[in-house]
Amino acid sequence: MSDPYYGNGQPLVGVSHLKKYFPVRKGVMRRVVAQVKAVDDVSFEIKPGETLGLVGESGCGKTTVGRSLLRLIEPSDGHVEFENVDVLKASKGDLRRLRRNMQIIFQDPYASLNPRMSVLEIIGEGLRVHKLTSSTSELEDRVRELLDRVKLDPVYINRYPHEFSGGQRQRIGIARALSLKPKFIVCDEAVSALDVSIQAQVINLLMDLRDEFGLSYLFVAHDLSVVRHISHRVAVMYLGKIVEIADTEALFASPMHPYTRALLSAVPVANPTAKRERIVLQGDVPSPINPPPGCPFHTRCPVAMAKCKTEVPPLKEAGSGHTYTCHLDE
Ligand code: SF4
Repeated sequence: MSDPYYGNGQPLVGVSHLKKYFPVRKGVMRRVVAQVKAVDDVSFEIKPGETLGLVGESGCGKTTVGRSLLRLIEPSDGHVEFENVDVLKASKGDLRRLRRNMQIIFQDPYASLNPRMSVLEIIGEGLRVHKLTSSTSELEDRVRELLDRVKLDPVYINRYPHEFSGGQRQRIGIARALSLKPKFIVCDEAVSALDVSIQAQVINLLMDLRDEFGLSYLFVAHDLSVVRHISHRVAVMYLGKIVEIADTEALFASPMHPYTRALLSAVPVANPTAKRERIVLQGDVPSPINPPPGCPFHTRCPVAMAKCKTEVPPLKEAGSGHTYTCHLDE
């Protein structure tokens, strides 16, 4: 990417061995009979000003990762640190303070805004709760400023969500996330519900805001082409695990994991003469209740070998910061 890379210094967010298992209960006694391994031993870091894209098919656990970082879902195990503070051990008061710096933008701009609240109430809620403004007129001024910043006309301040288009609602969601001046935002499929032309506008806005305020993003999406535009690095998830992580350019130029190669083969190329062979994966993603032994991708991998069915693949390095898990080339 052309903007300055901020990948130096201490991580802002550090995630290690994160797990989230959802119990499956049955019978009158609601006994736990199995566990859905939605997130299974995930580790990564995000530096100040950096955007990490997190991609994978629906159900791979990427949304659960994003929400676990903010403890909107309580993780089962692992560590999450934000500016060296242990998020998972934070008390209620500490968590409230942490959440000023850690915000989220949801996928569905129709469902994530309370239809009975005006734009002023939606965007101003956090400012009011955290007592960050001292008068109603100061609150209104701040909300107008935020509307202007996300390129919405401040005259809309007293309107309600149903009076806006999907793209405009997502801008309201972004203004709400920005209101507390956070350092880190989880963008949870934040543009997936929007038309392609609107997606590009919202992504450009998110990039402008990142550069202006030095924000860091975890950008969760199922679409690799969307992630490519905004991310400095990309992590690819499959069945609750990260199977490959690399700088965006390295991942697109030389993907190492067969799953990443398959995902990339479906991304349209700008130059129609540069043919890329489409890799169509057979079968469905296996159930995270009972993931396959060995390599979890072996049931769909076009180049699977005998040992893939029994042996967990090792973590390999393909270059600086480029890692993947696979038995190929051993
Ligand atoms: Fe395919 Fe085997 Fe590599 Fe898994 S370990 S991705 S099954 S080649």
